[in-house]
Amino acid sequence: MSLKIWIDGKLLDKEHATVSVFDHGLLYGDGVFEGIRAYNGRIFECKAHLRRLSDSAKSIRLDMTYSTEQIEEGMLTAMKANNLIDCYFRVVITRGPGDLGIDPRKSKQPVTIIIADQVGVYPKEMYEKGISIISSSYVRQHPNACSPRIKSLNYLNNILGKIEANDAGVHDAIMYNHEGNISEMTAANVFFVRDGIIATPTTSCGILEGVTRNAIFQIAAKLGVPLIEKRLQRADMYIADEMFVTGTGAEVMPVTTADHRVIGSGTCGPVTKKLMDAFHGHVREG
Ligand code: PMP
Repeated sequence: MSLKIWIDGKLLDKEHATVSVFDHGLLYGDGVFEGIRAYNGRIFECKAHLRRLSDSAKSIRLDMTYSTEQIEEGMLTAMKANNLIDCYFRVVITRGPGDLGIDPRKSKQPVTIIIADQVGVYPKEMYEKGISIISSSYVRQHPNACSPRIKSLNYLNNILGKIEANDAGVHDAIMYNHEGNISEMTAANVFFVRDGIIATPTTSCGILEGVTRNAIFQIAAKLGVPLIEKRLQRADMYIADEMFVTGTGAEVMPVTTADHRVIGSGTCGPVTKKLMDAFHGHVREG
């Protein structure tokens, strides 16, 4: 059976789910998106994701055709149509078809797409041994350029970081902001543990405010583990006892080497493990 894709209220077979070559999402990366997961038929932090989607749309002056409630309904429809209970959603809103100039006023009708597909899970071994990362030489885009808080269809800044990681033969790359402070990984937020205290870059450091990041704040509070937001530099990474990253896809993933240096003990540390276990419980509880 072909995967069913929801586009503007209609369910279409994957082969027929297409957009115009004049769509400004394609021509200019003019649009916004979300990556969301469902566990056992329940959408994890749906409201928070859709709030971020509408914030992203508002930031780029894109009027959404559908309310967040209608998008949530569309997600459930797409999930059911594909007989999925554990799934990954990609919700995309493009500026829609226009002409070849950049003026968004020419695009009269945004296009809303919901893809519900199987989740591409990472190997279990990665969660035990941790991943290797490097420091990217690309500066995370300036908050006053196109803010990293906007989850826009233009991910080239992040993709360049990812290419650097690929070339270096490691899993991913950490990006620094224009002031040299750590911002985030190419598609995940970053955390460090030192002396039992968790630290993560503040939202003003040029990050996407991750939904998983916010869940970790709640979990850490519940477990009584102190967590602070601060400005962090490369040196903080090298002396950390533990390092991990969070995201909808990766969930909580330990990082055990950075710039070819071993971080902490070189395996998943106890605080990271505690958070990973608590996160798994948290997502299953809904
Ligand atoms: N930063 C970036 C740049 C991302 O693309 C993502 C993935 N959406 C994250 C952080 C993590 O966000 P979330 O936990 O909401 O998936």
